[in-house]
Amino acid sequence: MKRKTKLIHGGNPFDPHTGAVSVPIYQVSTYKQDDIGVHKGYEYSRTGNPTRHALEQYIAALEEGARGFAFSSGMAAIHAVFSLLSAGDHIILTDDVYGGTYRIVTKVLNRLGIEATFTDTTSMVEVEKSLRPNTRALFVETPTNPLLKVTDITAIAAWCANKKLLFIVDNTFSTPYWQNPLTLGADIVLHSATKYIGGHSDVVAGLAVVKDDQLGEELHFLQNATGGVLGPQDSWLLMRGLKTLGLRMEAHEENAQAIVQYLSGLDTVESIHYPGLLSHPQHELAKRQARGFGGIVSFDVGSGDKASHIIRKLKYFTLAESLGAVESLISVPARMTHASIPSERRALLGITDGLVRLSVGIEDHEDLIADLANALQG
Ligand SMILES: *Cc1c(COP(=O)(O)O)cnc(C)c1O
Repeated sequence: MKRKTKLIHGGNPFDPHTGAVSVPIYQVSTYKQDDIGVHKGYEYSRTGNPTRHALEQYIAALEEGARGFAFSSGMAAIHAVFSLLSAGDHIILTDDVYGGTYRIVTKVLNRLGIEATFTDTTSMVEVEKSLRPNTRALFVETPTNPLLKVTDITAIAAWCANKKLLFIVDNTFSTPYWQNPLTLGADIVLHSATKYIGGHSDVVAGLAVVKDDQLGEELHFLQNATGGVLGPQDSWLLMRGLKTLGLRMEAHEENAQAIVQYLSGLDTVESIHYPGLLSHPQHELAKRQARGFGGIVSFDVGSGDKASHIIRKLKYFTLAESLGAVESLISVPARMTHASIPSERRALLGITDGLVRLSVGIEDHEDLIADLANALQG
């Protein structure tokens, strides 16, 4: 089955009871038992709900994993996965992870006795240096936000297997359409489904997929124990979004490529970050491990003032947090998504005040480029 076919037929799209071609929204919390403990597979909707279950099977199929899990947000999914760790454990993470991931690790997990080292996971030397006797897991986001740094999933997977570490990949930016970390050796793949998977700026959700049944049992236990499950309406919205994921990802990328080409010709733009650029430091790797470069582009306009000026003039790029939806968005990471990261750390990472991030939508690229031209040249 090819990938766009899989998005339509890869899950469990039909309701087994009625044949409805869209899985119904089972708006229900509890289920009649025929006798004590005798039921049809569902007892209580935190533990399992048929609509959520259909989504969970669908994402497991798309990521080629054993089991999928749907959560009330990307952070709830990340929290549940981190709950596999215990006090005294140490985790290694990509240095420019999503701000919320940085926050939960440095402000919540630290209080529970879980230690962490943030390191440049694009370098195996740096990863090796971060290893401690109590290291249990490695968490990678690739490509990263907002600098689009790319980590070698296959190389890290082999290293983790050798050291018996749990290898977790946040695949939000690439989506299962472009990249499947489990097939490259990861143990768990995570998504903020709020972004491309939902795709329409109308739902907050998270997904996790595990490579085998044992991890599946452990994560299901934690999903049920901590309770951050996705409701049936939002589960339905994600299934609706997934059906057009392929079409949308192709359109996002095509537009992003056109914008990158336009920006490359401007001397007002100091640097452009996009894995599809030949000059991107991990361009060859990005080409090898993913089938596409995605729809996120960031570039430096020199100062925070210039960034503000440009943003005020734009018509089609809406100033907003989040990314991955049909409409184009713009943000200034240093003052928005990454504001929770201390400024010294931001400077170290290269998240400057003049860095703007585009989440390129699926509008006609001629309009998007004209809009940028008007703002950048005015
Ligand atoms: C948005 C995001 C998250 C957090 O997801 P929420 O759905 O906002 O909780 C995690 N990782 C990445 C890469 C993200 O972009």
